[in-house]
Amino acid sequence: MSQVKRALNFNAGPAALPLEVLHQARDELVDFGGTGMSVMEMSHRSKSYEAVHNEAAVLVRELLAVPEDYDVLFLQGGASLQFAMVPMNCLPKGKAAGYVLTGSWSEKALQEARRLGDTFVAASTEDGNYRRIPDVGEIVFGQDAAYLHITSNNTIFGTQWSTFPDTGEVPLVADMSSDILSRPVNVRKFALIYAGAQKNLGPAGVTLVIVRKDIVERAPRDLPTMLQYRTHAKNNSLYNTPPTFAIYIMGLVLKWVKNQGGVETVGRRNREKAAMIYRVIDENPDFYLGHAEPESRSLMNVTFRLPTPELEQKFLDGAKREGFVGLNGHRSVGGCRASLYNAVPVESCRALRDYMVEFRRKHA
Ligand SMILES: *Cc1c(COP(=O)(O)O)cnc(C)c1O
Repeated sequence: MSQVKRALNFNAGPAALPLEVLHQARDELVDFGGTGMSVMEMSHRSKSYEAVHNEAAVLVRELLAVPEDYDVLFLQGGASLQFAMVPMNCLPKGKAAGYVLTGSWSEKALQEARRLGDTFVAASTEDGNYRRIPDVGEIVFGQDAAYLHITSNNTIFGTQWSTFPDTGEVPLVADMSSDILSRPVNVRKFALIYAGAQKNLGPAGVTLVIVRKDIVERAPRDLPTMLQYRTHAKNNSLYNTPPTFAIYIMGLVLKWVKNQGGVETVGRRNREKAAMIYRVIDENPDFYLGHAEPESRSLMNVTFRLPTPELEQKFLDGAKREGFVGLNGHRSVGGCRASLYNAVPVESCRALRDYMVEFRRKHA
């Protein structure tokens, strides 16, 4: 592999991709598998593309152990379109959908659902600026709810669900945009999972939806064609031209995860990576102030502040000089955020840990 200078990339999304994947994509860019074309240049109806497309779907099923009675869909419009498609397809008149508010993305999901039907807030941790995931006992919904919506990882605030609520007969819907494939999950617990690809799965432009078939079938038939899950389920996500190149890269990322040993191995490594950074925070509680409460901490997005805005600026300026990218916190939390998605190497995390320790030594 050629030696290139790679950024210490902690971007929140779009985010780091595995270097091996980028190299393979480069090698195949002008001639994919002897076709004399890149994947971007071939028909989405061709045998060559079909193999790429189907392999990606098979890998999703295999890596996440998706049961047979679920469809795996590749859609467009990002997670943000799912904020609308979920209620369009799953929120009938006369029922109400519950939303657990754990951050900005769940708020956005709720806002969109409100345009389309009856909703209620099943729990919220907005008090205290979303530092935690609610306890199971705080979540209130009736067994006649259309569904319960959660955000499994809160990219902006740096919190993550460690166990999921039991919803009985009520379908559980999860926005997993920023932690899909980062740890094993029991897909069976969910009626529908959606995730924009650009954090853990690949490039922007494709959205993964994993949905139980009975949910797809129950949806209204008078929705615009493209907004029905049914259309995409029936047509293997090839009703219209899919984002072929994004799906191809996602397939390479999935293969990379498989070669790493699968979701369990990657999950173990993610725990180690996050522990490295949280340890610095915990060992210097007067200097690095973690935003999330410890038991709600995200393994994907570590959010923290420094004692003063001046020190934060110094920290970020110094980090930039050292080759770190993407450490600025989101404007609604401020401070710093390190996103440690699957493709962020352990060495980058070590470098960040060392930088944090050294910065503290110099400035505390
Ligand atoms: C990034 C993100 C989104 C928005 O995704 P788009 O693909 O840009 O629409 C939604 N939810 C979560 C949890 C995210 O991290």
